[in-house]
Amino acid sequence: MTVLQATAVRQSIGGRTVLDGVTLSVSPGEIVGLVGPNGAGKSTLVRAMLGLSRPVSGDIRLGGRDVRTLSAQARAREIAYVPQRPSDGFPVSVFDTCLLGRTPYMGTRPGREDLAIVEQVLEQLGLTNLAFRTMDALSGGERQRVMLARALAQQTPLIVLDEPTSALDIGNQLFTLRFLADEARRRGVGVLVAIHDLSLAARFSSRIALLHQGRLVAEGPWHTALTAETIRQTYGVEAEFGTLRGTPVIAPFEAVAS
Ligand code: ADP
Ligand code: MG
Repeated sequence: MTVLQATAVRQSIGGRTVLDGVTLSVSPGEIVGLVGPNGAGKSTLVRAMLGLSRPVSGDIRLGGRDVRTLSAQARAREIAYVPQRPSDGFPVSVFDTCLLGRTPYMGTRPGREDLAIVEQVLEQLGLTNLAFRTMDALSGGERQRVMLARALAQQTPLIVLDEPTSALDIGNQLFTLRFLADEARRRGVGVLVAIHDLSLAARFSSRIALLHQGRLVAEGPWHTALTAETIRQTYGVEAEFGTLRGTPVIAPFEAVAS
């Protein structure tokens, strides 16, 4: 199985440092929850780890090889990506959009197995009834779920998701995180997920990485990474912690005057 490893990654955009020596790995079977305020550098880190941008220094290794030296096809067989902002949608069917996830394996046309995999994923995510609707005729949340389906159809050992629940209702947020946790546990998939909801992050992540102003300021099990202190320092918020039915609840209470 494949490990994704970022070491001492520095990235700058327009002369400004947006990632400052970030070291982070994603191993088979774990969910790494990437949290941090707006502009912390989560999407920049995610894109760098996918090999979509070139860091100023540091390196990103996928299965021990520099991710930027792998062909697009080789990479797509290892990592699936759910971007933060799926496009507004083209007049392409949901089914065909998910079939794009099979591109790294297909010849010129999809085979029977590709069609069966897409059918199965749509079924698993409860999207079968949308299969022949077009992407431009879906709600933002529905489109987001289709982007997850496309990534799952890719059947990769690693999945990287950038705020995959941002447009989802609470039921679908929960379903999505639970589904990813099951994929990690049952199939050994390694998951990196940037997410804002700290309770969901704490509940479903094996490990939390807290990013602030381009630096990883805390990393580890949720209760060590997400404390009243780290949340105050990064988000400027007083948070309260509780446990309901054995799961952590982290509630933002007061914005701290800066
Ligand atoms: P996050 O995903 O944590 O909200 P991003 O990684 O998107 O943060 O952005 C990190 C920082 O880099 C922010 O300050 C953002 O404004 C800046 N940034 C991101 N993309 C660009 C860009 N294309 N041009 C200029 N600045 C950018
Ligand atoms: Mg982002």
